[in-house]
Amino acid sequence: MSKEQLVSWGFKAEPIFLAAGPCSAESEEQVVETARALAGQGIDFLRAGIWKPRTRPGSFEGVGPRGLAWLVRARAETGLRVGTEVAEPSHVEACLEHHIDVLWVGARTTTNPFSVQAIADALRGTDLPVFVKNPMSADVALWMGAIERLSNAGLSKVGAIHRGVSSSLEMRYRNAPAWKMPIELMRRMPEIPVICDPSHICGKAELLPAIAQEAMDLLFDGLMVEVHPDPPNALSDAPQQLTPDQFGSMIRNLELSREDSDSPVFQNSLSELREQVDELDGRLLELLGQRMDIVREMGQLKSKQKVSTLQPHRWQQILNDRVKRGGELELSEDFVLQMMQSIHEEAIRQQETDRIGLD
Ligand code: PEP
Ligand code: MN
Repeated sequence: MSKEQLVSWGFKAEPIFLAAGPCSAESEEQVVETARALAGQGIDFLRAGIWKPRTRPGSFEGVGPRGLAWLVRARAETGLRVGTEVAEPSHVEACLEHHIDVLWVGARTTTNPFSVQAIADALRGTDLPVFVKNPMSADVALWMGAIERLSNAGLSKVGAIHRGVSSSLEMRYRNAPAWKMPIELMRRMPEIPVICDPSHICGKAELLPAIAQEAMDLLFDGLMVEVHPDPPNALSDAPQQLTPDQFGSMIRNLELSREDSDSPVFQNSLSELREQVDELDGRLLELLGQRMDIVREMGQLKSKQKVSTLQPHRWQQILNDRVKRGGELELSEDFVLQMMQSIHEEAIRQQETDRIGLD
């Protein structure tokens, strides 16, 4: 993907780009101790939050600008570059005064274009690497907008961090991985390096290795991981932080995938399978076209009889039946629901186009 970009910004990014460090800077000792433990692990920069945007007031809100001096000391002792989150122009100014090497924009800030613009304006004339976390909701345009605001301010080293999206559903993860969003970002902005923050996706330390591996399998350029010398006593995000040793072993165990392979056996088998998939996709599309023809005919019948387009009872029956049949074919309930909802939405659009001349 865009690892070359990261290398051209002066990072080693070998074998992948790695940012690691505590959720929050808590004390000078904690920052320096973490930096020492990570310096030998080939990371590209030490992360530590100085100003912590918390969802609810009253949680630990960061140590503020005095923590920047701790980062500077950690850098002097270890040679590591250091980075932190900025949420407003005064944070940017304080970071520039301390020559902080890397900045990132947090998920809550990316959600607000006014804040992102203010940060971009404060950074104008500098060329620090800045990473933009995805917004709290699965809105790829909002994420791209933030990246564009920074680029438009003249910054040439803008990357992205995927940290999942918040959800009201009870789930395994703190933030749903929502992989289709970073995949779409990679497609629409192929020149932007994209790294994954498995810590904020998972919310629990034991879930991190699997999500980090999944990020590698999806060709992310690297990882940003929360690492703390004493996770149970961390002042923020305690359950999701790894010890430096846990971080090291997670990284060593990652299997790195590449986008392609020259092996002729692999190429042959893959192209045969791809042909089958192309053929099936063609049939799926034809079937969907036929289904829509029938749906339009039904629409005309309903329209003549002044019967509503939406038939809630029938729709519920369809969903129950298709989810059950999908389950027998090992298709997940979520997938079948989403697919049927998309088909139904298009069916309604087509019926209403005939009926009231939409379009
Ligand atoms: C963080 O990186 O510590 C943080 C607050 O993350 P996010 O903005 O992804 O919630
Ligand atoms: Mn955190």
